[in-house]
Amino acid sequence: MENQERKKRALSCIQPTGTPTLGNYLGALRNWVQMQEDFDCFFAVADLHAITVRQEPSKLRQQIVEMFALLLAIGLDPQKSLLFVQSHVPAHTQLSWLLSCNTQFGELSRMTQFKDKSAKHADNINLGLFAYPTLMAADILLYQPDCIPVGADQKQHCELSRNIAERFNGLYGNTFVVPEPFIMKTGARVRSLQDPTKKMSKSDENVNSFISLKDDKDTVIRKFRRAVTDSEAKVRYAEGKDGINNLMEIYSAITGLSLDAIEQAFEGKGYGDFKTAVGEAVANELTPIQERMNTLLADKAQLEQLMRDGAANASRVAGRTLAKAQKKMGFVQL
Ligand code: ATP
Ligand code: MG
Repeated sequence: MENQERKKRALSCIQPTGTPTLGNYLGALRNWVQMQEDFDCFFAVADLHAITVRQEPSKLRQQIVEMFALLLAIGLDPQKSLLFVQSHVPAHTQLSWLLSCNTQFGELSRMTQFKDKSAKHADNINLGLFAYPTLMAADILLYQPDCIPVGADQKQHCELSRNIAERFNGLYGNTFVVPEPFIMKTGARVRSLQDPTKKMSKSDENVNSFISLKDDKDTVIRKFRRAVTDSEAKVRYAEGKDGINNLMEIYSAITGLSLDAIEQAFEGKGYGDFKTAVGEAVANELTPIQERMNTLLADKAQLEQLMRDGAANASRVAGRTLAKAQKKMGFVQL
């Protein structure tokens, strides 16, 4: 009975690699704010994942703090959700080793993110990049969540986490909840503004390909006006119109208008007007977040205190699961 009344638990993470984009916002962050009302939520800044590609230490430090501040600025409330930084909870790396020894080389070789990122960083195809999904499985399984809200690009990693959990439970006895990925319909895959066949990514070298959550109004509008589209010049959602489809999906996610309603609203208008409208809608959504971010970043002591509280609370939950997994595998508990 009690179990049925327990709120479902959700967990999600974001890497502090570069400045988060509109893709991260619509595909992940904005949904988190909604979820915290109905779920018992854990949200983390996945800083250990960030170093799978080379990071400049001083920049990384700043990005971790900024990402934590952003979580607060978008409306995540530490009274409702557990917010923490991954590297502050050592159980993540500890469990990831146990899981690594229960994950096959072949499974990891099939991960498209590994293939994409190793092509992009051919000079640094490190073991961590390859093992990334086992650390991600640890991030998730430590908190026994029922669901994992992610963008469509993380579906494959979520599947692998489920497989690892099922395998572990089968071999050593029930240890982990097997979580369901939770992919939102709108905003699940925001595409690059310069190459709409690719996803918008904050680590993209071309700054015009993404909207950073830090971009000011003029920059946002300029980037949308430069977005790659097609030559039909008709605001219409259709196959082969990846660029316009992407802008329509973004506009729909921000304004709540359906794709049909957008087609009607822009009937007879060119791409110029539509792109400006998308830019303005996005900029208006971002401005208040940016203002809250600046206020939060002005008080480093408060941010650090919130990180400390988050780390202590997360460590308690994670520590219990880690101990359980260690015991089941046969380690001696002191
Ligand atoms: P990186 O390029 O460093 O991997 P990223 O932009 O992919 O950065 P992550 O930190 O890997 O960001 O992912 C954070 C969350 O944002 C995940 O839930 C992911 O699914 C989601 N996400 C990332 N890119 C997009 C996108 N283009 N559209 C929708 N959701 C996205
Ligand atoms: Mg990513």
